[in-house]
Amino acid sequence: MSKKMRQKPNALKIYDALYGRLYFNKQQWLKYGNLKDGYKGEVWADQNFEKYGWLIIKGLSFHLEGDYVCQIDTIIITRDKIILYEVKWFSNPAVDRGNKIQFFSGDKENPNGEIYEHPREQLEKATKKFKRLMWKLGIEKELETYVMFTNPDFVLYGMEDWSFDLLFHSEIDAHLSKLAASTIEPDAESHRIYNLLMKQDHDTSEDMPFIPKYNYDSLRKVVKCPECNEVITGILKSCHSVFCIHCHKKVTVNDILQKSLDDYKILFKQTPNLPQLHDWTGEMFDRMRIYRVLKKNQKEN
Ligand SMILES: [Zn+2]
Repeated sequence: MSKKMRQKPNALKIYDALYGRLYFNKQQWLKYGNLKDGYKGEVWADQNFEKYGWLIIKGLSFHLEGDYVCQIDTIIITRDKIILYEVKWFSNPAVDRGNKIQFFSGDKENPNGEIYEHPREQLEKATKKFKRLMWKLGIEKELETYVMFTNPDFVLYGMEDWSFDLLFHSEIDAHLSKLAASTIEPDAESHRIYNLLMKQDHDTSEDMPFIPKYNYDSLRKVVKCPECNEVITGILKSCHSVFCIHCHKKVTVNDILQKSLDDYKILFKQTPNLPQLHDWTGEMFDRMRIYRVLKKNQKEN
């Protein structure tokens, strides 16, 4: 049970809209990949948690005085405890290096890829802050925390001990079933806590670190597939739909135009007028078609 739907992070929406229109450097590719993976893992976890009747907070961003915003990926509130999950969708294998993890990249024998803070460390820091939040709100409940690796292909080598706070893909089902068997329906107190926490949820739409700098002139004027977000080329002015060579789906020109319009709004926070959308879409379409899409949007808003 969750009253809040998980929203795609704004930073990811911007990266998606910039993709194919702007050159990304290595750091930006990494950031984009992490944002995509993070969201994928969270959506996967949501689908699995939703089978049970728990009170779930899908992403809580809270702010304590004098501190940065802290985010917890998933929170479950049961009658006897609160459970925090740090959700990760890592694809490449990695090695446990104590408080860091290092990914393999290219060389299958030696881990020589990016080094990140261990998710367990991240979760510990977030848990400390969450405890301060509980104290501030007068919430008294037992707290449990887990890191959840949602990608079935992910392997973590070099762990010295088996640790029960790290859940790998193959363990998640059993973990959730066990939790379901041991928890009872949320009571009024659980709902009260849920509402208290939700009131702390901080709007993060303006917090967007690592977004590449861009302006209208710096972006390629292309159109992209509404299904897979890849650039589509070679559209004839007269056709009503095209096959995307990337995802092999048939997409209509109206949907392509609609996506162009949506991307423009994400990047520039305003609706383009007819000449602007005509230019934004690489002058590939008749003005009449563009006019109809803009008109339809006007009616809907
Ligand atoms: Zn496609």
